[in-house]
Amino acid sequence: MKVLVVGGGGREHALVWKIAQSPLVTKVFCAPGNPGIGALAENLPIRVDELDKLLAFAQAEGIGLTVVGPEQPLSLGIVDLFEEHGLKVFGPRKNAAIIEASKAFSKDLMQKYGVPTAAYGVFTEVGPAEAFIDRTGVPIVVKADGLAAGKGVIIAQTRDEAVGAVRDMLSGNAFGSAGSRVVIEEFLTGEEASFLAITDGTNIIPLASAQDHKAVFDGDKGPNTGGMGAYSPAPVVTRAVHDTAMAEVLRRTVDGMAAEGRPYRGVLYAGLMVKDGRVKTLEFNARFGDPECQPLLMRMKSDIVPVLMAVAEGNLAGRTIEWHDKAAVCVVMASEGYPGDYRKGDAISGLDKAAELDDVVVFHAGTAAKGGACVTSGGRVLGVTALGATVQQAIERAYQGVGRITWQGVQYRTDIGKKALNRG
Ligand code: AMP
Repeated sequence: MKVLVVGGGGREHALVWKIAQSPLVTKVFCAPGNPGIGALAENLPIRVDELDKLLAFAQAEGIGLTVVGPEQPLSLGIVDLFEEHGLKVFGPRKNAAIIEASKAFSKDLMQKYGVPTAAYGVFTEVGPAEAFIDRTGVPIVVKADGLAAGKGVIIAQTRDEAVGAVRDMLSGNAFGSAGSRVVIEEFLTGEEASFLAITDGTNIIPLASAQDHKAVFDGDKGPNTGGMGAYSPAPVVTRAVHDTAMAEVLRRTVDGMAAEGRPYRGVLYAGLMVKDGRVKTLEFNARFGDPECQPLLMRMKSDIVPVLMAVAEGNLAGRTIEWHDKAAVCVVMASEGYPGDYRKGDAISGLDKAAELDDVVVFHAGTAAKGGACVTSGGRVLGVTALGATVQQAIERAYQGVGRITWQGVQYRTDIGKKALNRG
């Protein structure tokens, strides 16, 4: 079978890496892919939002399964389009991808179906929003309703900051139409964890737990990014937390979506806040998280292709996923300036040396080919991901890989995975 992966970041590199190992697969294509992916798959010069071109390619090439990585094509309706033409595709339809595309939708869904989450209000005008802020007090969290590349969340420490964020969003100055509605919610404390599951709309298979590191600097300092690293498993997700998340978050959400006439098929990613064994849901994503996807897929022992296919066909019942009894850690190497304006076009050295290490895979995110060399082309450039018998060993191996790679202005955190150690 031929498989098409849509996307071109670290997540898609990890998906292609895993899919290409399947004995069921003869060839993998990736649109648009990146130089790292190009070593395993044929990259196509098609952007993720060019749905008609993707469809025409899949039809002409006889693609047996299409796997959609990023959110944007999902909310543009790529799954609906492919299904209308009788093609097998992994991911939620547009009316289900809204669980990520609108935070107001997902909060209302959680409230209706009893999924634990922070108290909140949804506003389109400043006056009522101000009254809500005054009633709730600070710190308080202001979120743009729509997609804002992970940057539409402001944790306000003062009333002025909160009201300022609301005004910026509602005026359209920050985040454009994504901010024309805001969700304001109670500030939660605790430890965050990512809980991902694969579902066909009825059956749910939980994936291994993971934790990412959003802040740009060591010690969780500095502005939030798309993610500077991740590890799996996450010790904060104990057996009891896992069972609670499955019963109260995943089960209720999947059943709720079905009851709303929006059956959810694909990866459902719940961002959780865990405190004293209790779980609250911060948000949902309609796709694999990046970088969490990288350590997760390195730990997956089972062939992923039959699972993805079963979701596309709606018959996941009775399937399971086996995991390596090892830990995995991913350290993101980023460009100078990220998550603000960042340098681009710097030559990357040492990729070949890092590739010599056992149990280390360097996933490409923001790289480009230039005259036979590999150069930086994005904020997050590489995800150096390693397996180890313990988290400690996986950390050491990942940083060994990082130590062999460099470019002008490279930055990375030096404390990825530390939270999993010394938990007392
Ligand atoms: P979200 O995109 O909604 O997951 O928000 C991005 C990040 O903001 C989360 O990963 C948390 O670190 C933080 N955050 C979001 N909502 C809350 C909340 N209600 N209380 C505390 N922190 C939050």
